[in-house]
Amino acid sequence: MDYPVRYDVIVVGGGHAGTEAALAAARTGCKTLLLTHNTDTVGVMSCNPAIGGIGKSHLVKEIDALGGAMARATDKAGIQFRILNSRKGPAVRATRAQADRQLYRAAIRDIVEHQPNLDIFQAACDDLMVQGDGVGSTVCGVVTNTNMRIHATCVVLTAGTFLGGLIHIGMENHSGGRAGDPPSIALSKRLREMPFNVGRLKTGTPARIDARSVDFSVMEVQPGDTPLPVMSFMGHVSEHPQQVNCYITHTNERTHEIIRNNLHRSPMFAGVIEGIGPRYCPSIEDKVTRFADKTSHQVFVEPEGLNSMELYPNGISTSLPFDVQLDYIHSIRGFENAHITRPGYAIEYDYFNPQDLRHSLETKFVNNLFFAGQINGTTGYEEAGAQGILAGINAALRAQDKDAWTPRRDQSYIGVLVDDLITMGTKEPYRMFTSRAEYRLVLREDNADLRLTEIGRELGVVDDARWAAFSAKKEAIEQEAARLKTTWIQPGTPEAAQVEAMGETNPVREYSLNDLLKRPGLTYAQVASLKGEPVADEQVAEQVEIQAKYDGYIARQLEEIEQLRRYENTKLPTDLDYDAIGGLSNEVKQKLRTLQPETLGVASRLSGITPAAISQILVHLKKKN
Ligand code: FAD
Repeated sequence: MDYPVRYDVIVVGGGHAGTEAALAAARTGCKTLLLTHNTDTVGVMSCNPAIGGIGKSHLVKEIDALGGAMARATDKAGIQFRILNSRKGPAVRATRAQADRQLYRAAIRDIVEHQPNLDIFQAACDDLMVQGDGVGSTVCGVVTNTNMRIHATCVVLTAGTFLGGLIHIGMENHSGGRAGDPPSIALSKRLREMPFNVGRLKTGTPARIDARSVDFSVMEVQPGDTPLPVMSFMGHVSEHPQQVNCYITHTNERTHEIIRNNLHRSPMFAGVIEGIGPRYCPSIEDKVTRFADKTSHQVFVEPEGLNSMELYPNGISTSLPFDVQLDYIHSIRGFENAHITRPGYAIEYDYFNPQDLRHSLETKFVNNLFFAGQINGTTGYEEAGAQGILAGINAALRAQDKDAWTPRRDQSYIGVLVDDLITMGTKEPYRMFTSRAEYRLVLREDNADLRLTEIGRELGVVDDARWAAFSAKKEAIEQEAARLKTTWIQPGTPEAAQVEAMGETNPVREYSLNDLLKRPGLTYAQVASLKGEPVADEQVAEQVEIQAKYDGYIARQLEEIEQLRRYENTKLPTDLDYDAIGGLSNEVKQKLRTLQPETLGVASRLSGITPAAISQILVHLKKKN
């Protein structure tokens, strides 16, 4: 039968990509349906209940700047917050929160249920309705497992680890989307009949442990940070639930020996698993073999929630059989009597080569069909959410007959993520790092709102409350920066004496508070009130301080971006003779000849093509013209 409602956008999958996609499409005013296996699992975290971390929190804050849900849910569910890289510069600073699994899911569910224009429906999507055949066809809806046809202008697919999902525990395996959930087999089969390039990837999770069976007294305590950070630009510490400690313990030589002795029982090492796993989240058997000289690895012992006895031992994910898991866990200090509540496992699943997507995340082969999340070869909630919000926005724009929004690399980590995936593809689960962005000083987590909220407002995904708060903050930053630039300290005054008392020298002529703030040894808090005027709130103060201290570097980076942008779209003729360009290595010449990048921008992002090579090509093109 035909479903009684026709939608602008249908989002398949209620994970992290799916919820952000559905919410974003609905915020633009599009009539949206979130179709998912089980409405009770909307917002479920399949693995560690932690959000953020290096590179990842940049994505979370960008999603937030565009009105998304992830950061707001984290503020309501975070039971431990920390700022990572706090001693390093602001570009690489990152916020990480350990979340209460149940509170996080409830917070996402609450946001989804209160979103106007968004319906939820529980069913499996088994098929796509498509007009036309093969490349150039157009999706027009979905078919559920109960043979219900739901019509829509656009479909966003966010099936995560569920497509052809195969769970491994030792040499035993069974079909599943993640532990306790069904796989998506019919849809996987259907997609394999379509002109997509499909591959297999793998990821894994550790056993969960009952906290009552653990000896925390022999572990290192890892408390959260004070003052308490927040994740959302709209967040407040008063929203945070009770805060708790995490702990650290270590594997040892005995643990490694148990693992080494049982490698033949690991499906990964026995060749049963064909998919490639995440390089930066390796299983413990991977670590023990890849870093054979290390006698110990850290295990972060993280609570799964305030009302849960389960612990997540971060760092020992595995696909070894249960008896081996039990043995090696018991060999770890503090875990000698540990009771396992859920065994660790690995899962293999289908993913699609992201090079078959446009920068809007629409597939190149089927019009109006968008892919987002783990199915594009990424790993992580944040990477999934970032693609979800972009796909949701672009599906909505398409449904409204508007041009797509494709964020640039110099504008956002979302832009970096999508551009990396599309220009380079991926053969292993892709995780975000700050090192993947070339303009780190401009793309900080603290200024994600200043970079994206105005764009989000134009796209229709930023609501009035966020817009009002953002506008007030932006104005306050401008006013405070102007005040510091025009507030002067005269030599010989009591303020100058205070400056000296802070261990700073006084110039002979008058100087502004902004001049003082540029000095490495001084902070906004020390400088701002020297003249007795009221100081700005934390978020405003942070921006004023960073902008003053890094002014020169930021200006240089902006100049570089401008220069590159001018050449981004410079066409590279198909008959360009790379051999005739002086200063290019043979490797670079060969790569350019083979890949034939269409523009200088695309060439600059190919791996191994250095900025120096790009300038040589530019010089050559200028000479030719
Ligand atoms: P998911 O969160 O998987 O959500 C998919 C949603 O789609 C689910 O709600 C599902 O029910 C629904 N769905 C699927 N098919 C259909 C269909 N046909 N019809 C209707 N609904 C459907 N990330 C890390 O960063 N590090 C790790 O170490 C890590 N380990 C992991 C270990 C395991 C075992 C698993 C399962 C995941 C792990 N992850 C890890 C990955 C993390 O969980 C994902 O990156 C993230 O959940 C992806 O979000 P998503 O929205 O793309 O998909």
